[in-house]
Amino acid sequence: MAQLKILISGAGIAGNALAYWLAKIGHDITVVERFSSLRDTGLQLDLRGHGIEVMKRMKLEEAFKAKVAPEKGVQLIDKRGRRRAFFPATTTKDGVQNFTTEFEIMRGDICRILYDAAVKHGAKFIFGTSIEKYDDKGSSVVVRLANGREDSFDLVVGAEGLNSRTRKMMLGPGAKDAARPLDGVMVGYFTMHKPIQQGEEFLATFYVAPGNKGIMARRSHPETLQIYIGGKTHALDNVARGDVKAEKEALTEFMRGAGWETENILKAMNTDNDFYLERMAIVKLDRWFKGRVVLVGDAAWCPTANTGMGTTSSIVGAYVLAGEIGRHCGKGTAEKSDKSDAGADLDKALASYDAKFRPFMDQVQKGIGEGSDWGMSFMSTAFGISLMHIFVAVLAFFQVNIGAMVLKEQVKDWKLPDYEELNEA
Ligand SMILES: Cc1cc2nc3c(=O)[nH]c(=O)nc-3n(C[C@H](O)[C@H](O)[C@H](O)COP(=O)(O)OP(=O)(O)OC[C@H]3O[C@@H](n4cnc5c(N)ncnc54)[C@H](O)[C@@H]3O)c2cc1C
Repeated sequence: MAQLKILISGAGIAGNALAYWLAKIGHDITVVERFSSLRDTGLQLDLRGHGIEVMKRMKLEEAFKAKVAPEKGVQLIDKRGRRRAFFPATTTKDGVQNFTTEFEIMRGDICRILYDAAVKHGAKFIFGTSIEKYDDKGSSVVVRLANGREDSFDLVVGAEGLNSRTRKMMLGPGAKDAARPLDGVMVGYFTMHKPIQQGEEFLATFYVAPGNKGIMARRSHPETLQIYIGGKTHALDNVARGDVKAEKEALTEFMRGAGWETENILKAMNTDNDFYLERMAIVKLDRWFKGRVVLVGDAAWCPTANTGMGTTSSIVGAYVLAGEIGRHCGKGTAEKSDKSDAGADLDKALASYDAKFRPFMDQVQKGIGEGSDWGMSFMSTAFGISLMHIFVAVLAFFQVNIGAMVLKEQVKDWKLPDYEELNEA
């Protein structure tokens, strides 16, 4: 098949990674992003396992390392700020990454690294608009953008994150959305001005308070702290998504009096800043494509921050989708072959992407949002938290890898496919 004309909706992690691979092999790639410019904000993310290998295959290791966040590890503290346990960052000799990996990076930095790489290979970006509607004609998709532009594509990709609109359109009117909320679990992210004190290290500091409340403060910059604040509450159930003022008010009400540095952190939260609230939800779909429309990243399979695998899954999933398109449809630079059947080749590529990557995501998502909430109930009391401190201190004493224990990096019996089709331009 010759060059495919592909529209990717969403210039986040998954969208930019996919744009990079497909533009690199010569396809005609357009990315539409609803935001008016590249959304290079957000706090610290990491890559784990196969995500690290894919980043290396993208030849972005040097660019990544130049921006790596300097976090040295994570400490658990009590309400007086006393350290109860410490887990150091992974070093190259370790196997599975710890809570702090060797590949920590600010979301904005990785988003921009991927965007620059995609642009370098010829991907086009349109900011400030989104897909208003599309009509899947079978052999092409006619898309109307909110800016009034209409165009036809061989394939449309929804890479719009957790609350994907393309996913809703793909499922059709009246269909139940695939995002299943984690019963009131939410976290607010923002950056707080707090210069580093003498003797202070670049650490993540984790504090748990009774009533299913928690705060993590991460230092990756001498002038600022990254704050993650939240827990489990239904206080935000009636607050509209994106109403930042109301979200902050409800979160303040929920967190007030939680101990440690809570009051100072709430004060900083209630100023003008980059606050972003995530209402945690897992996305589960029986199929990630329908006709000529396919999903990738959180839009398709959001595993939640509880797995530590959101960014890795996006990068690996985008690689598998691009690889299957390369394998079944060829490069965009190839001569059109009389024997190729464009529609059938794309069908095979999408089916193969789904079949190959699903076992990976099934393992990552396993247990999330299922089963009982005993852990939450246990840690809702001061007594439960004290016992947890003792347990975690024992783990730290024996140098247990807490990342391997609680996160989902270890995907078993799944081999990262090799795609020689992605190797050269
Ligand atoms: C601003 C921002 C800050 C974030 N901060 C954190 C964080 O601190 N910690 C963390 O763990 N995760 C954070 N995330 C989520 C994290 O990036 C993803 O969970 C993960 O990397 C998977 O990436 P993704 O590409 O699937 O989704 P995302 O990275 O969420 O990217 C989705 C992109 O699609 C765009 N978009 C949404 N709807 C439309 C539409 N209708 N049309 C066109 N474009 C659309 C969005 O603006 C965004 O650029 C953040 C996401 C965003 C957008």
